[in-house]
This record gives sequence, C-alpha cells and structure tokens, in this order.
Amino acid sequence: MLEPRAGVLRMKEYHPPLGDRSGLRLDFNENTLACSPKVREVLGAISSADLTKYPERAPVEALVAEHHGLRPEQVLLTNGVDEAIHVLCQTYLNPGDALLLPVPTYSMYEVYGSGAEARIDRIAAGDDFVFPLDALLGAITAQTRLIAIANPNSPTGQTVRREQILRVLEAAPHAAVLVDEAYFHFLGETVIDLVGKTPNLIVARTFSKAFGLAGLRLGMLAASAEQMQWMRRVISPYSVNSLALACLPPALADMDYLNWYVAEVRAARVEFETALDRNGVQRWPSAANFVLTRIGAQHRRFVEEMRERNVLVRDRSSDPGCEGCVRITIGTREQTVNAIYALEAALAEIGWKGKG
Ligand code: PMP
Repeated sequence: MLEPRAGVLRMKEYHPPLGDRSGLRLDFNENTLACSPKVREVLGAISSADLTKYPERAPVEALVAEHHGLRPEQVLLTNGVDEAIHVLCQTYLNPGDALLLPVPTYSMYEVYGSGAEARIDRIAAGDDFVFPLDALLGAITAQTRLIAIANPNSPTGQTVRREQILRVLEAAPHAAVLVDEAYFHFLGETVIDLVGKTPNLIVARTFSKAFGLAGLRLGMLAASAEQMQWMRRVISPYSVNSLALACLPPALADMDYLNWYVAEVRAARVEFETALDRNGVQRWPSAANFVLTRIGAQHRRFVEEMRERNVLVRDRSSDPGCEGCVRITIGTREQTVNAIYALEAALAEIGWKGKG
C-alpha cells in the first residue's frame, strides 16, 4: 500500500478552526478592520493582462529591503510567515536534527519541523510564561540546527529582550535562529538591524497582522545574503502571487494607516485588560494584539457563550501550560466596547465568581 514519508506520518496536524467566522473575529489575531484604502485602489486597478504574467518578486523585494534598511539579497518574500517557516525547516533540518522551541509557542514550527523529520526539543516557559533563557541555552546541543523564538510570542503575548536573543545567537553559531516578529508593530522592538552582522540570525515579518493582509498571504524573511542564497534555492519561485506583490508597495507607503491601527489596538488593549481585571479574570501582560486569559474549567462553554454573542475567541487550553486558557484578539476601541459587553455577559452565563 502507498504510504507517505515517515516524517509525514509523524507530522503534527494543524486544523485551524476556520468554519463560519461571521461576527467579531477575535480568534486569529488578524487586523479586525481593514487594510489601507490605498491597497484597495491598487487591487481595483489590476488588469486581466497583469494576471496573465508570472509574478516577479525581485523588484518588490528590493523595495521591501529598502523599507527595512536592508540589501535586496537579504530579503525573501514568502507566502506568509507559514511558508517562511516551511522554507527554513527544508533548508536547515536533516532527519534527526533538533528543532529547539520554548513552549508554548506558535504551532507551525512544530508542524513543519516534524515534517522534516526533526526531533522537537521543547523547553517549557518559566512562571507566567517568561522566556526560559537559561533552560534554552542549556538545551543547545550539536544536533540543534534551528531555534524558533516568536517575539512577541503567541499565544502568551510575552516578549524576549534583545540581550536574551543575543545570548542565544552566540550560544548556537551552528544553528539558524529564527526570530519571528509577526507581531512586531504592536511591540516596536526588533533585531532586524542585526541582520547581516550576525550570520545565524533570521528574522521573519508578516503582513497578515497590523497591515491587515492575511488573505493575500504575504510574509518575509531577512537574513545574511550568504544564508539567503540557500533559502532562495528552496522556495518555490512563484509562491507569492501577483496580487500580493502589487499590494505591498501601497501598504508600505501608507504607514500613517498602519500607525493609526497600531495605536488603536494599544489603546483598546488597555481598556480590555482593565475589564478583565475588574472581573477578576487572570491575564498575562501582552505586547501583541491579543491577550491570553485563564477562564478555567469552563473554557469551552465560555468560547461558546462568546460565539452566541457574535464574538469569536480562541480556546488555547491544549497548549503546554495553558490549561483553561482562552486567547482574545484586540481590535479597535469601538469593537472592544462590544467585546467587553460580550465578555461580561458570557462570564455571567458560566456562573463566573472570580478566578476559575
Ligand atoms: N508567526 C506567529 C507567531 C503567528 O502568530 C502567526 C499567525 N498565526 C504567523 C507566524 C503566521 O503568519 P502568516 O499569516 O504570515 O503566515
């Protein structure tokens, strides 16, 4: 009988709960409103002839590189950061190599790492999901070929300090160190300036979150030109389509829109956190556009009760150390008024009496 590769048999499955998402989408950490109107203008002007051509990535890569203070050879556009993670696993992981991860963290590292037949070395975060620097440094071995650090992390919203990232980079010169800055805009701190100066650093960014382009599938990798030549070999030449490429220049040109959205989320996050505190719901400090809460034993019913009120939130209870936890995306302040209203009604419905 036909069987897939051993790595595929062992591969962790990932089924995002994407069914019926009408309502206020606070479940996938997307932009909850819209992308820049300038992007819509460009999309509307795309001709049929434009669609007949294969997409040309290089000129847009040059523009994105300039925007980030990098050289074109240091930038690779990808079909979302998810493809970037896949490319990294295919570039650096031999069967039996180790992928080192602080957990809980973003699921796709493990999905693609297991598909490449890597061993997954998971290091539990410290109390309150603090980045486990010492344990991580202690777990680096000769087999460690890829280390993935999301900053801010998902689903926790926790951050990693620059000095801590530098320690990891220095301790594992034989490993690719991915710093996944998918939520960079909400934090405002980056290590992208070290690209090219630190040979094993690879930074990922996405246009799915603050930029509001999750449906277009646009991400990027930044790394030294020496390393990038290998990733460029692995990636499919046309994985970023023409519509996505056309939308990048107007998205990057309208930083006013982006800054407005980020400021809106930051203000809304404070309001939502205040509401959680008022209701005695445990939460962790977040530098991203979401907040991790602990609802306790009733987490499933809580998610359902929120859905009853047209607000979608994400159950993260099965993530390591996240028993009873629900992650809630932060949108605009106006949306947050409704989210708080739904939160309080859902808590009342599950008989909430304080910390679950
Ligand atoms: N990294 C992290 C930490 C994320 O939370 C996400 C979004 N789910 C991604 C990467 C994937 O982003 P993209 O839409 O660019 O594939």
